[in-house]
This record gives sequence, structure tokens and C-alpha cells, in this order.
Amino acid sequence: MSESYDVGTRAWQPDATEGWVASEVIKKTVDGSKVLLEFQLENGETKTLEVALEALQSGNSASLPPLMNPTMLEASDDLTNLSHLNEPAVLQAIRLRYAQKEIYTYSGIVLIATNPFARVDSLYVPGMVQVYAGKQRATQAPHLFAIAEEAFMDMLRDGKNQTIVVSGESGAGKTVSAKYIMRYFATRESPDSPGSRVKKGPEAMSKTEEAILATNPIMEAFGNAKTTRNDNSSRFGKYIEIMFDKGTNIIGAKIRTYLLERSRLVFQPLKERNYHIFYQLVAGVSDKERQELGLLPIEQFEYLNQGNTPTIDGVDDKAEFVATKQSLKTIGVSEANQAEIFKLLAGLLHLGNVKISAARNDSVLSATEPALVKACDILGIDAPEFAKWIVKKQLVTRGEKITSNLTQAQAIVVRDSVAKFIYSSLFDWLVEIINQSLATEAVLNKVSSFIGVLDIYGFEHFAKNSFEQFCINYANEKLQQEFNQHVFKLEQEEYLREQIDWTFIDFADNQPCIDLIEGKLGILSLLDEESRLPMGSDEQFVTKLHHNYAADKHKFYKKPRFGKSSFTVCHYAIEVTYESDGFIEKNRDTVPDEHMAVLRASTNKFLGAVLEAASAVREKDVASASSNAVKPVAGRRIGVAVNRKPTLGGIFKSSLIELMSTINSTDVHYIRCIKPNEAKEAWKFEGPMVLSQLRACGVLETVRISCAGYPTRWTYEEFALRYYMLVPSSQWTSEIRQMANAILTKALGAGTGKGLDKYQLGLTKIFFRAGMLAFLENLRTNR
Ligand code: ATP
Ligand code: MG
Repeated sequence: MSESYDVGTRAWQPDATEGWVASEVIKKTVDGSKVLLEFQLENGETKTLEVALEALQSGNSASLPPLMNPTMLEASDDLTNLSHLNEPAVLQAIRLRYAQKEIYTYSGIVLIATNPFARVDSLYVPGMVQVYAGKQRATQAPHLFAIAEEAFMDMLRDGKNQTIVVSGESGAGKTVSAKYIMRYFATRESPDSPGSRVKKGPEAMSKTEEAILATNPIMEAFGNAKTTRNDNSSRFGKYIEIMFDKGTNIIGAKIRTYLLERSRLVFQPLKERNYHIFYQLVAGVSDKERQELGLLPIEQFEYLNQGNTPTIDGVDDKAEFVATKQSLKTIGVSEANQAEIFKLLAGLLHLGNVKISAARNDSVLSATEPALVKACDILGIDAPEFAKWIVKKQLVTRGEKITSNLTQAQAIVVRDSVAKFIYSSLFDWLVEIINQSLATEAVLNKVSSFIGVLDIYGFEHFAKNSFEQFCINYANEKLQQEFNQHVFKLEQEEYLREQIDWTFIDFADNQPCIDLIEGKLGILSLLDEESRLPMGSDEQFVTKLHHNYAADKHKFYKKPRFGKSSFTVCHYAIEVTYESDGFIEKNRDTVPDEHMAVLRASTNKFLGAVLEAASAVREKDVASASSNAVKPVAGRRIGVAVNRKPTLGGIFKSSLIELMSTINSTDVHYIRCIKPNEAKEAWKFEGPMVLSQLRACGVLETVRISCAGYPTRWTYEEFALRYYMLVPSSQWTSEIRQMANAILTKALGAGTGKGLDKYQLGLTKIFFRAGMLAFLENLRTNR
């Protein structure tokens, strides 16, 4: 048996650069209770290993190198067909396929998509839609169209809403995948329409379908930016419901967004940019508009020049501006309204240029400062009043108003908070406009079911992790839990259906980690508590966290050994240490009341409409936030609450809870995007990088779950047909069950009491433990 590591057995050895390297046993010496194994590694090295004979016999020593699969299985298009389901085997399968320019691989129900960083045109031509339309997933090569088709067919068959979750780290290909999926639905003919199953071309799309696709360039212009990881990085999460009527025609869509990165508006790290739309605007406006809006070159706007990279290779911002305007028109934003949007953007750019100076400890800003005048003019707000509340703040204590001066640094924070508020309101307004145009009352009345596509940031783990990473990783914990439960449920259902003898497998349930974050007295609730204190601080927040969870009080929390300002959460993927610096400020996400009053008094009608739409969105969030809010525990001192404004963390939590309840009410399909190298190079595969992502997106965890169960399953017939030659011809019979039993007895010692831990007999199938397939294949070849 191959598990005994006889000479010729192939196994994986850990390797620092490749992740794993192939090896073969070239010598095996048994010395009493010990065994000496000598391996020849593929990279030329040799390695010896001493193991206990007992460990080798039971086959469950962690020190034994993981076994390799028979060559014919190695590049299997479904990982669950691998006989030896271990990390290196999974990596090898994806690596080999990628080398053959096969970017898609299944892992059971999950589609793994490895970014080619090169155009693979043949994959997405209209003819390809034809290949997948109306076909069962298993009959075609792995593809995201197959997943889209499966969702479509499931919706058709069960009349149930569907969700396709696309996840992966920045630059892995989520947005590209989500767009191809949307295009697939838009170009696939509904089954009861006459003619071919695929529309002839984009010109055959309906107005609605065109409008749905037009939402992509709009959302990307306002919500995507160049980062060091991705030239077109989405800085928000998105769930789009594509709505179908009874005849499965697309009739509308609805978008929900999550946590737009606000800080980017006022700050960009080196080599990064602000949101695309600003560069498009500066590059694309007419001379007349440039004059009116006072637009300067990119380098002269503080909000645009910090990254010191105003352009993106291969992107023409001017042409993109034309495309953005065209898309806005397609969803029904008039040219006049577009001009208003651009005006607002210009106002923000001028706001960023407002020079606040310092006189001793106080900040100084004159109401005649040129950038301020320009900004206030465009925004229709009162310059002296606005300037005043940039440099001063007002506190109300026991009914008395006390005004104090702000430092220069504080004043800049206030200026930027106003800009961020206006921009995020504009973003919310845009989403609202899109929804008003694509999810009208009439549409909603006709909707039969929808397919939702979730394009959301994957797990993040950087050198420095902040509030944003905390929220993102929290979202991923929730999605991971949903995924585990789903996989488990499916597995369990099949075992039950087949009535096999099976005890529930233990899997890493991440509920305690979720509780730590969102539960009563969880991290988010302590953060809210601290954020509501007038003198609340990041340090005090961390002290509270340590007090509540450190010193083994919570299994998923750790107090880092160094630094007093950070805390560690043990996420399902990896432990992440968060720097508390900025948590309170970001969580509060407020504009001083005085500025709100100034903004509300604006004569710019468009700004008024934007603020109103955004506040309606917020109010909705607040309503759900407070319905989810954790009531303070009786007797607990919560300090003097400044206000009960919703916090960003609170809003995010309730929107996540809502998202999860939507997703849970649908059938879910999964696409995991993998970024195979850091440099974004075409067809380059870096093993360790891929491994860590497979771990983070839960693929390896599912593989582990499968290993604990019975990952290989054959019908009795398939089994008998493949292995009948393992028994003498005198025992051959056309009675399939009898035949299968004979093979099992011969090959695996069924009936000797040993067989049961290797396989189980179900009603229609035989279930095998991991490794059994390779063993049987081995017998078959070496017979
Ligand atoms: P982020 O989280 O930063 O938004 P993302 O996962 O959405 O990242 P994408 O913007 O979809 O990443 O992809 C990044 C880049 O990778 C694309 O701009 C494109 O160059 C390349 N890419 C992704 N998927 C494919 C694909 N299927 N074929 C060819 N190139 C691709
Ligand atoms: Mg994206």
C-alpha cells in the first residue's frame, strides 16, 4: 500500500521558495521500531527522515510528508477528484492547470479562478456563452460561465433567488469576473425566447440590460482607484441583484454598496491615486468648463497629487471621461445633472487646497483665502461662516455653549471631514439614482426572482492593519461562516440521503470570533462606547479591549507582546494585529453640527439633493442599526454619551447582517479569485502566495472537511466497471452490487472489520475516504 512509503512512493517536501517540492522514496530501512526514509527531491537535494514504524503503519503521523497523486489525477479539473487531498496536492493541481493556461479549477462547488494577468480572449467570446448556455456544469470545462449558468438554471428550476459570491484579495480578479457574469446574463437569451440561445451581439441587448452594464463604468469611476496592488481597485463592496421576470427576461437591478473608503478622498499613499473620476474630470472637461470650475493641473490639487502618479499605464483618462458620461446618460442622468456632479467634484478639489495656517497653537483661516472662496462659491455656502467652523469648535455643556480654538492639525481634520462627507454622500446619491432608474416600482412589481452578485474585498492582512481591515475581515468571517455551513449542509445531506453510517465531523466554527467582534460587549460595541465619549481615545479603547478579553479570557483575542496601541484577533485565515490608531475617528465619521448647518443652508440645489438622498440612505441604516443595536448591560457605566449618531462600525454591522440574511435566503454559488503573483505578471505562479490565499478563502478548510469525511464517491456501477479486473474472472457477475462487494473484499478487506474506516456503502453510491482512489488505481495498474 502506498501509505507505507515504500521505495518509489512520491511525496511532497516543504520548500521555502516554491511552497512544496516533489520527492520520491529511494531507500527505506527498517530498524526495530524505527524506519529510515531517504528521499530524492526534484530540485536535486536529498533528505532523510526517521519515523516510528508505528506511525508509518497507522499512517497518521504529522511528520510524514504528504503523498503525491498519481500523475493522471494531478491536474484534475476538480480538486475533489484528487485522491490525496493535501495542501501541496491542491497547489500542484492549480499550478499545473495554470501552466496549461487553464485558469479555472473546481474545488467541489467552488470555482477557483487564477488571474492570468493577460487577455485570454477566447475564454469570453460570445460563442463561449453558447457553449455554456443550457448545459450541466459537469459536462464542460470549468468556467465562470458554468457557475453563472448553474445559478440561472437553479433559479429557473426552483424559482429561488440566487447569489454568486466572488471573493479574493485585491487584484485577484473579482470585479472582472463579476462583470463577465453580468455580461453573461445580459447576452444569454432567455430559454423561452425564439431563436438561438445566445443573442447575436451587444446590439441585441435590451435597454435595461444596457443600463445594467452601464452601472459598472459609473461605479468604477467614483469608487475605484489606482493602488499599489491594483490599477483599478474597488474601494467599496457591492451586491447587485439582477432581476428577472416570470419569463426570465432581465427587467431591472438593484445595487447595495458597503463601506466606501473615505480616507482616499483626502489622502493617497505614494504611487496611488484618488478616485478615477477626478483625473477623468481634469483631463476631459471642455475649456469653458475648465475655466468656470477653475480646474488646475493635477499637480496643483492637494487631493490629487500626494501619490505622485497622476496617470495609469494604458489608461486614457480623457477617453474614460467620455465613457463615464455616456454611461451616466444611459442610466438617465441628464447632461445638466452631470454638470452639477462635476461642479461638486471641482468644489471638493478646491476645498482640499484651502490653506490653513498656524499662529502659535491656533489655526488661522481667512474668509478671503482664494481656494476657500472658490470652493464656497461652487458649493453655494457661506465662506465666513464656513471658515469660522474650520478653526473653531463648539461644545454644549449643561446647556451652555463654549467655543474653543482648534490647532492647525485639528482644523485640517475638520476641513477633510467635510470633504469626505460630501463625497460619500455623492456616492450614495449615485447608487440611489441608479436604483431609481433600474428598480422602479413597476419593475419591483414584476420581479419573479433575482441573481445577486457579490463583489467584496477578500481577507486583508497587511504590515499595518487599521479600522478598514478590521471591518473587511469581519465581513469575511461572516461570509466564511456562511460558506462552511453551506458546504457542511450539502455534505451532510448527501450522507443522510445515502443513509451511510456517519458521525458529524468537527470543523473550525468561527462563531466565537464573530461574537468577539459583533456580540454584546464585543469589540464593535466597546468601540461605539468609546466613540461616544467626548474624550474617547484610541488608547483607552485598546485598554478596554485588553481588560475585557486579554489574558486568555477570549480564545480568539490576543494582546500583542509589543506596543500598547494594538490588539490581535485570531481570524479563521490567520491572526491579524490591528493598530488602534484612528479607530475612534473613523468610527465616528462625523461632521461637526455647525458644518452640517452651513451645508444645509447651501444655495447649491444639487448639493442639497445629494445630502438629502444620502441622509435618507443613512436614516435607513440607522433604523436597522438601532434595531440591531446592543442595549447597554444594566449597571454598566457607559459614560456621558455625546450623541447617538450612528457610527460607521454600527452601520457596517447592520448592513452586513442584512446582507447575510439576503444571502442566506438564496442559493449560493462561490467563485474564489486568486492572485498568482505580486508583480501582476502574465502567467507567473508563486506557490507560497497562492497557498496563503487558498487558506484565506477557505478552500483548504473545505478540503480538510472533505478529508474528514468521504470525499470520493462512485456509483456501484461505475465502481464495478472500473475495477472488475481486481477479482478473478470466476467471480465476475452482472449483479452489480455483488460484483462491487467482491472487489471491495478483495481489495480493501471488507468484512474483516478493517474496511469500514476506508469506505461506506450508501444506497446508490460507495463513499471512500481520501487516498482510497489512489490505492485502487495503484492496484489496477500494478495488477
Ligand atoms: P480589488 O479588490 O482591488 O478591487 P479585484 O479582485 O476586483 O481587486 P480586478 O480589478 O477584477 O481585481 O482585476 C485586476 C486586474 O487583473 C484587471 O485589471 C485585469 O488586468 C486582470 N484580470 C483579472 N481577471 C482577469 C481575467 N479573467 N482575464 C484577464 N485579466 C484579468
Ligand atoms: Mg474590484
